[in-house]
Amino acid sequence: MAKFHAYRNLKLCSKDCLCLFVCPTGASDTETGQIDFDKCIGCGACANACPARAITLIPNKMPKQQVHQEEVIKALFKVANIKIATINKLKGLIKSSTDEQEKKLYKAMIHANKVIIEDLMREAGYMLPESKNTHDFLEELKKTTPQKEKIITELLDKLEVNE
Ligand code: SF4
Ligand code: SF4
Repeated sequence: MAKFHAYRNLKLCSKDCLCLFVCPTGASDTETGQIDFDKCIGCGACANACPARAITLIPNKMPKQQVHQEEVIKALFKVANIKIATINKLKGLIKSSTDEQEKKLYKAMIHANKVIIEDLMREAGYMLPESKNTHDFLEELKKTTPQKEKIITELLDKLEVNE
């Protein structure tokens, strides 16, 4: 089994160029934007050739998550909770504001805070899909959002826990 497979970022891809010609297996298809993982041998020729840097090689087997100290995780969650409170306040401000420009600014601030929360959660050990943290989080999510149970169960079946 190949160690890597190629992943294309469609936002960066300018379509129909070099990766199609260098791929030795025909795995790269810019018609659909997909890379056929069954055909991809992870050689990296497409990533090296891509002028837009739109292709990344992703390991098929992810490494184990790094162990984080308990205090560090607590501190990260504390900051994340402050950011969540900020988001909730901003949502309230959007509701009460009548100024469209002001609303746009609040929306941008919400987005920025969400990005920071994502970073904090990654640092806290929720980055890798195969981690036990991610597995436990999905199990919890399944209980709290029954309407998404089917899709979360499918995801859990596909994700191998490596810790
Ligand atoms: S990594 Fe190699 S096999 Fe896979 S899509 Fe790119 S060029 Fe094709
Ligand atoms: S070489 Fe890069 S930019 Fe060109 S089609 Fe392939 S992925 Fe897209």
